[in-house]
Amino acid sequence: MMRFKIQRFCKHRKPINSVLIDYEIPQSDATLLEALTFVKIKTDQTLTFSSGCKSEVCGSCAVLVNGKEKLACGYKLQDGDVVEPLRYTEIIKDLVVDHSLAQKSLKRVISWQSKVSKKDDISIPEAKRVELQSDCILCASCFSSCPVLEVDSEFLGPFALTRNYRYVNDVRCEDEKEKIDAVQKKGIWDCTLCGECTLACPQGIDPKNDILMLRGRSMKYGYSDPNFAIDSDFGFNPSF
Ligand code: SF4
Ligand code: SF4
Repeated sequence: MMRFKIQRFCKHRKPINSVLIDYEIPQSDATLLEALTFVKIKTDQTLTFSSGCKSEVCGSCAVLVNGKEKLACGYKLQDGDVVEPLRYTEIIKDLVVDHSLAQKSLKRVISWQSKVSKKDDISIPEAKRVELQSDCILCASCFSSCPVLEVDSEFLGPFALTRNYRYVNDVRCEDEKEKIDAVQKKGIWDCTLCGECTLACPQGIDPKNDILMLRGRSMKYGYSDPNFAIDSDFGFNPSF
């Protein structure tokens, strides 16, 4: 027997639309997705969650377990686990969230008509082309893990920044400067390099490292860390 809790959310539930509810399942070696499916079939048909491939490829079942991002289909449930929806998303119902905030952050750094060299200018949509260059499964776990987004919702976040680097690093990229310009404000210099996004990624992608690489690339275009641009005369006024 395993006991766990699920944060249930329904915007129509009054007066409190969010509650933590206890559940139990008979199996002791179930994945979280199997546990959620059991609850839905046997205990409460109103439980709502997302899943797709069931093999850690599609990214649609990402949730928080005890505050950390996990793919429900790959995570073995532990007694006492607390399951919640991803952070910085609009909750649609229970564990189902709208990923569009993460997607919007991508649009801020990669224009739809991004330039690539003519010989490779195959006419497939921009987002699809990025997908082809990356192992990213669009689960938004990195976005959910970032502590900067908690204090600054304008921060571009690791999802957009790591994808921007995929583009900048592509030999076919013809607008590198434009892409570097796009990550200066509320971007690479606002990251604290805490590495939470790297730990959260189920695909082994390293957004923190990509942000460091973007910082290095930015210096090539004359940018520097604005956090070190403060009062460089250390209080000595050169006019004296
Ligand atoms: S390394 Fe940067 S982008 Fe990644 S979680 Fe930390 S602050 Fe956010
Ligand atoms: S970079 Fe990793 S954590 Fe972020 S959306 Fe892609 S697969 Fe998920």
